[in-house]
Amino acid sequence: MSEIAKNFEEIETRIAKAGKHWDVDTSATHIVAVSKKQPAERIQAALDCGHRLYGENRVQEAMERWGGDDGFLKSFPNVKLHLIGNLQTNKAKQAVQLFDCIETIDSTRLADAVQKECEKQGKEIECLIQVNTGEEGQKSGVTPDELEGLLKHCKEIGLKISGLMCIPPSDEPAGLHFAFLKNLAESYGLEKLSMGMSGDFEKALPLKPSYIRVGSSLFGLRPNE
Ligand SMILES: *Cc1c(COP(=O)(O)O)cnc(C)c1O
Repeated sequence: MSEIAKNFEEIETRIAKAGKHWDVDTSATHIVAVSKKQPAERIQAALDCGHRLYGENRVQEAMERWGGDDGFLKSFPNVKLHLIGNLQTNKAKQAVQLFDCIETIDSTRLADAVQKECEKQGKEIECLIQVNTGEEGQKSGVTPDELEGLLKHCKEIGLKISGLMCIPPSDEPAGLHFAFLKNLAESYGLEKLSMGMSGDFEKALPLKPSYIRVGSSLFGLRPNE
């Protein structure tokens, strides 16, 4: 069995354990395998395990790896890709072409650009709004106060928002941020949550997120990190 296959098993065991511990059904929680910066052989190994949902944080890197004539999508056309990193409006076209979900909508300008591209390309993609729950200066995402305005704008332009995503501050208890994000989502009637990474996904599981984003504990440490 490959190292990656073992890691998948280990993560699935951790999910099952947490589910049992919290007495929640984890069957609706999907693992977004975060393949950013990972060597191609590791991604190939994950594909060989049958995994079909991946996350990338940069449009350019994702296009090189997944798109084009020699990209993984040619051999694995049913792979779904999530953009989990900051998106610049000038990359909206490529992002809408390549991704099935953009988890990082965080401004009216970006919402406009994504909606325009969806219309142009006749493509519907899933969109989540990234919330900067810790209100950290350097982090992307809207502050909780800005969320209502952005949701209203998205509704006006016809961009459907399915849910919310967050990355908690590294020095605060993740569980508090996850619970806060869940409350926010519920108060706006949003169904999906993307929260939890290698170090903290167990804390997200009792809140039944649709997506946990797992990189290093699946693929191993990213080179140069
Ligand atoms: C890199 C990244 C992850 C994965 O982090 P790991 O700690 O390696 O699991 C998850 N979410 C986002 C937004 C990321 O940029």
